[in-house]
Amino acid sequence: MPCAGGVSAEPAGDPGLASVETLPGVGPQVALALARLGIERVQDLWFHLPLRYEDRTRVTPIRELVAGRSAQVEGVVRAVERGFRFRPQLRVAIDDDSRATLTLRFFHFRKAQADQFIPGTRLRCYGEVRIGAHGPEIVHPQYQRIGGPVAVEERLTPVYPVTEGLGQRRLAGLVASALERLPAGDVLELVPAPLRVPLGLHSLCEALRFVHRPPADADVAALAAGTHPAQRRLAFEELLTHHLSLKRLRAQVREQAAPVLVGDGRLRERLLASLPFALTGAQRKVGSEILDDLSRAEPMLRLVQGDVGSGKTVLAALAASAAIESGAQVALMAPTELLAEQHLRSLTAWFAPLGIEPVWLAGKVQGRARRAALAAVAEGAPIVVGTHALMQPDVVFARLGLVVIDEQHRFGVHQRLALRDKGRAALQAPRGRGMDADHDACADWLVPHQLVLTATPIPRTLAMAAYADLDVSVVDELPPGRTPVKTVVVSSARRNEIVERIREACADGRQVYWVCTLIEESGDSAAQAAEVAHADLVAALPGLSVGLVHGRLRPDAKQAMMEAFRRGEIAVLVATTVIEVGVDVPNASLMVIENAERLGLAQLHQLRGRVGRGARASTCVLMYQAPLSALARERLETMRETNDGFIIAEKDLALRGPGEMLGTRQTGRLVFRMADLARDADLLAPVQRIAAVMLEEHPALVDRLVMRWIGGAERYADA
Ligand code: ADP
Ligand code: MG
Repeated sequence: MPCAGGVSAEPAGDPGLASVETLPGVGPQVALALARLGIERVQDLWFHLPLRYEDRTRVTPIRELVAGRSAQVEGVVRAVERGFRFRPQLRVAIDDDSRATLTLRFFHFRKAQADQFIPGTRLRCYGEVRIGAHGPEIVHPQYQRIGGPVAVEERLTPVYPVTEGLGQRRLAGLVASALERLPAGDVLELVPAPLRVPLGLHSLCEALRFVHRPPADADVAALAAGTHPAQRRLAFEELLTHHLSLKRLRAQVREQAAPVLVGDGRLRERLLASLPFALTGAQRKVGSEILDDLSRAEPMLRLVQGDVGSGKTVLAALAASAAIESGAQVALMAPTELLAEQHLRSLTAWFAPLGIEPVWLAGKVQGRARRAALAAVAEGAPIVVGTHALMQPDVVFARLGLVVIDEQHRFGVHQRLALRDKGRAALQAPRGRGMDADHDACADWLVPHQLVLTATPIPRTLAMAAYADLDVSVVDELPPGRTPVKTVVVSSARRNEIVERIREACADGRQVYWVCTLIEESGDSAAQAAEVAHADLVAALPGLSVGLVHGRLRPDAKQAMMEAFRRGEIAVLVATTVIEVGVDVPNASLMVIENAERLGLAQLHQLRGRVGRGARASTCVLMYQAPLSALARERLETMRETNDGFIIAEKDLALRGPGEMLGTRQTGRLVFRMADLARDADLLAPVQRIAAVMLEEHPALVDRLVMRWIGGAERYADA
């Protein structure tokens, strides 16, 4: 029942909400298989979108086949050959009216199957064409024997994601019968026309019908690229829903009470006065945004983005000082021990003179030391620094008021939320509630403020989509006195020249990083590669002390080596990418990265950020193993051309796609059914605008959108 504005506001009678079991032929068994695909209701089938399409709307003459393209072919079996070259195989030659021959090649087949291919039999087959030794061939085609002329498909054939026990054909049939229930007109529309129409978006029903059953004359290239208007319509709605759900989540968090952290400013003043530098304009701006958040009774959820070396740690310290002044505890978490230690060192240097000694809690803190740390935390130690060890259930805070998480991009969005929940649980425990107590039921505890720091700048578009539940501040200015790092790209064939350059740099009193990466083909680990490089450099640089640090070393050995490098006792430090984050040695002004072509842009940028921290001009040598792939060449070029983390991030997004960038590929999250953050980036601005209006004016429609795309069972962010 459409209402004004072309939107259905009434869920009652919505055929999409019916269970899939109401579809013909769906019993408990099929329903179970469907559930594995997240399909429970009829509308879930509507939104079960094809992965790709096959074009069986025409038959291509064999003579016109193009390598690398899929095609439907019809022909008569001429010859059958069974061979055992390297493994059993079956080759079936078919001819057609274009007087050309196509070879069908099978590596797995049953005898009965092979016996079907009798010369003279007419076949219709489909598959990707490649050029073999005897002309065009298709390996493992889909095929059927046909008697006489058979009509071709009228529409492109969608290929769906399937699951065990539910094949392509069956699933396509189920989608087709679900589509029969697709109501006509605007009944399904959940985005009001005044918001949607100016964007030129299809109606939803039209879009769904189109993507499931594209006509023979559809723009196949656009469909394959995911840029067809019908697909854009669905991508838009999916992105909108994703954004709405994060905004909702944020609103829910905001409804909870957080401690108001406004102190008298004295600790903060003393901290600022004791720093050996003045804050940059960007630091002051972001600092005051944070202090403003902390002064509110709702939890801060702020992401601070700033390039490597932009000085984010001091912002954490600033926030901490405000929290401590108000009697709250601060927890600072980093994803690696090395990085956490770096923070411990900075915070200790800044706060110990003010009478505040940060507590250290990492995985390696064990036994008596751990018990002492836990006791200190429980008694209200003002600052606790550590790794995810902070999140263990036995870590109980007396009054946790602020959680700072560094290097956020290494945690998935959902891990971040889980960490925050841990923070809540930790805060909750002293009030006598177990971790499993119903969160929503206890309104009397305070939720800590959350500050997230990330060094890999995230493109604005991506940040909007992925972190819609956070406020974003950008530290867009480097501290003064830094000279930009000069980057050169050289082939490993010139290794000797580079070693010579290291010798000169060290003679000049500089220190050098030599970074080794994983060499996949040889199966060697990065640690092994580093050991080899270390031995080589020791031999090539007599008289210089060359250190080695990699992930396989014991933590205290690693620590001792880093310390020695920091103190300048080691001239050249050979390392794996463990030094990517957290190392701050201003005197190190030359970095050589071996096999740089193997690293992604974000990682290269992080690594390079380890040099250029002092006043001297620094150089980063990206050494590659020829030949370079086009993608690797482009990455190295980008590194050579710019030091700007935001430009690099944009490029990274374009080259790699958002999944990898946010580290969500592993967690399987932020995977869209239709949308692609890089491809559909232009939709994100309208998504943001329309989401704001919908949250304000159409909350009921928001509920239904979230139900449609994300589902009610899974509380989206509560993974
Ligand atoms: P990142 O943003 O990469 O975490 P850090 O917080 O580690 O950067 O800061 C990098 C270096 O810059 C540190 O040595 C820090 O003490 C120094 N620093 C931070 N802010 C300033 C500033 N305003 N002026 C000069 N040096 C600064
Ligand atoms: Mg940092």
